[in-house]
This record gives sequence, structure tokens and C-alpha cells, in this order.
Amino acid sequence: MIRDINSVWNNCLHTIRKNVNDQSFKTWFEPITPVQLSQDSLTIQVPNKIFYEWLEEHYVSLLKMTIRKELGDAGKLEYQIRTAELQNGRGVNGDNRGKVSLAEDREEVNLGTPDIKNPFVIPGIQKPRLDSQLNPIYRFDNFIEGDCNRLPRSAGIAIAKKPGATAFNPLVIFGDVGLGKTHLVQAIGNKVQENFPNKSVLYVSAEKFTNQIVQSIKNHTTNDLVNFYQMVDVLIVDDIQFLANKTKTQEIFFHIFNQLHQNGKQLVLTSDRAPKDLDGMEERMISRFKWGLSADLTIPEFETRMAILESKMMREGIELPDDVVEFICFNIKNNIRELEGVLVSLAAQSSLANRNIDINLTKEVIKKFIKEINKEITVEFIQKLVADHFQVPVEKLAGKTRKRSIVVARQLSMYLAKNLTNKSLKSIGEMFGGRDHSTVIYSCNTVQDLLDTDPAFKDDVHVLERKIKLSLNEK
Ligand code: ADP
Ligand code: MG
Repeated sequence: MIRDINSVWNNCLHTIRKNVNDQSFKTWFEPITPVQLSQDSLTIQVPNKIFYEWLEEHYVSLLKMTIRKELGDAGKLEYQIRTAELQNGRGVNGDNRGKVSLAEDREEVNLGTPDIKNPFVIPGIQKPRLDSQLNPIYRFDNFIEGDCNRLPRSAGIAIAKKPGATAFNPLVIFGDVGLGKTHLVQAIGNKVQENFPNKSVLYVSAEKFTNQIVQSIKNHTTNDLVNFYQMVDVLIVDDIQFLANKTKTQEIFFHIFNQLHQNGKQLVLTSDRAPKDLDGMEERMISRFKWGLSADLTIPEFETRMAILESKMMREGIELPDDVVEFICFNIKNNIRELEGVLVSLAAQSSLANRNIDINLTKEVIKKFIKEINKEITVEFIQKLVADHFQVPVEKLAGKTRKRSIVVARQLSMYLAKNLTNKSLKSIGEMFGGRDHSTVIYSCNTVQDLLDTDPAFKDDVHVLERKIKLSLNEK
């Protein structure tokens, strides 16, 4: 029997249409093109990988049923992905069981009224223009290049030339606080705006996004909000780690993400850690993040710190002797915001006290600065936090107990004390009931082994480290 590919697919669509709501049909099935038909397999082309995964995740049973109805029990469906990045389709055959369609309730958010109420629209006569919420001071030309940022920076530049049309979608930029994530993503947004004045760019912090969602749920306007986000060509969400454990917000974000990505819109995200380490984030969300490029910002090397500081001096109109610049960059390593902080307080000190900026004044300022930023990290503080975390009495850390849970807490506290304070091994040992420095080394090595082999432990330590660092920022 000779069958015509289009009539087979039309029959399939007919069955599908009866089983899904209008919106889902339009979104997920209308864009499909049938491309090849053989004895018992039909190949369909889908716009991109998200699409394929979404179908597989939500409609696999329906598709299976439909295809068997048309092609018989051996009927198979093959996918082809339209985008260049993934030409080789993966196949789902009739045996692919075990996935339940979750689509229906998820998609409700998409069925909103078309009129748009949104928090950022500037009222105008013509179509609403978005306020991008970008800060124009963050640009590429004042984002100094170095080994520490080469990859994310050049990915950002590529995106600004062709938003939505590179392999970097989403672009996830991650790294510790103060290393330039916000600056870089805002530079991308500003550049897109400059290159494509008609594209709408939106910068939003994950925190603000969450508040909008919460508010919209309260006011029954979630659909409007979702519709609003769908008008955006380049969506930048800063600090997505904030979405951790916020299930409802993640669900809505997932939906917005899929819609935008599917429509070839650009997503740019930042996070304080690698996507895979985002605890409390749904797996499907993390797997979306991995589609594009995840690139990290690392601590800038000395020369880059020098170049950054010099460019800030130019901008602020502050002049410093060369040896002072070097001295600052030599001593402030981990955080560019701190580098700027020292510069500003140095300038303030010199004009207030009417003093020349020399190494001595710089030393004072840095000392004060470093003391301030390290004020909270004491061995006692670490001990208390770790003891709380493992729910063991803090005084046991200095004791002799060999109980497993206490030994772990003790060794971990030593490890953190060594890494997060300036204390010597000897003085750390003293704070743990007068142990000697070789015990501290042994503990640190044991912890390192555990970190290398036990992912759950590693997560625990990560949480603790963050708590310690956060307590500093709160000051
Ligand atoms: P994060 O978002 O990662 O915490 P920010 O983007 O807020 O960090 O950066 C902190 C400060 O450091 C900002 O003032 C930013 O302009 C500056 N900065 C970071 N990286 C660079 C760079 N490569 N060149 C110039 N300034 C930088
Ligand atoms: Mg930031």
C-alpha cells in the first residue's frame, strides 16, 4: 500500500487535536513538518531541541498511540531537529515508555488574555516599548578583557551581534560575587540595544522576577506577566541561584524560557555557581541551561587587575602613583568590587585628610578594608556554624571524642578555617583543643579526599562556605 506522507501526518494531527487543548496544539504540533515516511517509520522535523524534549517529555504516549494507529504496532517516530547545531535527530520508538504527560496544568499559564499589563512598559501611543532596566554604564568597552573572562566575554559579544541565533542560547555566566557577572550581562544587553534598536531587551534580577510572580499570583495576573515576558527578544536574568527551592516560580520561569527559546529569542542568565551545582533547582531546568554555553568568570590575574584598576581611575579621575596601583592589585585579589572599594576609600581619605596618596596611606586603607571584610571570619565563627550544621555541640570540636559525626565536623572546621581565615596551622590547631599543626594538615587532606569522592558531602561544604561568605556580605 502506498501512503502519502502528508495524509499520514494529517491523520496523526487529527488524532492529536482531539487529545490536547488548542493552545498546546498550536504551540507544539502545528510547527512540526513531516519529512520522511518509510514502511513503519515517520520522520518529523521540529524547530529545535527544546521542542523535541518537550514533546518527548509531555506527549510521548499520545504520539506513540497516534503513530501506532497510523503505521501499525511496529510504528516508529523519528525526529529531526531543524537547527544546524543538531542535525542528527534522535528517535523515539514505540517502546519508549514510562513518561507521563504533565503538560496540561503547566500550560495553563499560557492561556492568558491578550491585553498586557506589565510592570515595565512605558506607556506610548504605538506598541508598548519596554524599559530594558539596563544600566548604561556597564559596557563592553569598560569591561576589561583577561584570561579570567575571555570565553564568556567573547560569547557575549557574539550574542550581541546575533541575539538568539548563536549556539550560546542560553548563555549562563557563573562565578563568585564581585567578578563581573552583572557587568557582563548588562554589557550584552546594552550592545544588543545599540545594534538592534527595535529589539526589546529586558534585564531582571531573579529576585525581582520572583517578586513579580508572587505578586501576580496574588492578583491573578500571572497570565499577563507571562505574556509580557513573551514579548522580550533578549531576556537577561541575574542571579538565578535565587530561584532555588521556589517551585512555582521555577515552573513559570521554565515555561517562559521554553517559549522564548522556541521562538529563537535569546536568554542570558547568571548564577553564583555552575548550573550542575544549583541545588534546589529542578532537573529539567538545569538540563535546559546546559543546552547553550555555561562559562565562568574566574579571579582575574594580576595584570588584568592592574588594567581594571587603571580604567576605573581614569573613569573616576583619580591619579595614583604606579607603586600604589601595584600594591593594591597585589593585595586585593578575589573580588573586583573590593578593588574599586579600596580605590574609592583611598581617594576619599586623601582628600578628607589632605594627604598624599602613597604606600603608607594605601597600607592603612587596605588594612582597614581587609580587616573590615575579614572581621566576621573567625575560627570560632566557623566552628559554631559547622557545629550547628552537623548538630553537634560546639565544645566537642575542641574535645577528644572520636565519634564519627564529631570527627567530621572537627576536620571540616579545620579545613574551612585554613581556607577562609589567615590563621596559621599552628594557631588553628590551638583553637581545637591544642592539637598540633600536623593534625590540621591531616584533617585538611581527609576533607579534601572526601570532597573528591563524596558529592553529598561536597554539597554540604558548599552550603557552609556560602553561609560563611554571605554572613560577611550582610555586614
Ligand atoms: P557580580 O555580578 O559578579 O557580583 P559585578 O558585575 O557587580 O559582579 O562586578 C563588580 C564590579 O567590578 C563592578 O563595578 C564591575 O564594573 C567591576 N568589574 C568586574 N569585572 C570587570 C572587568 N573585567 N572590567 C572592568 N570592571 C569590572
Ligand atoms: Mg551581580
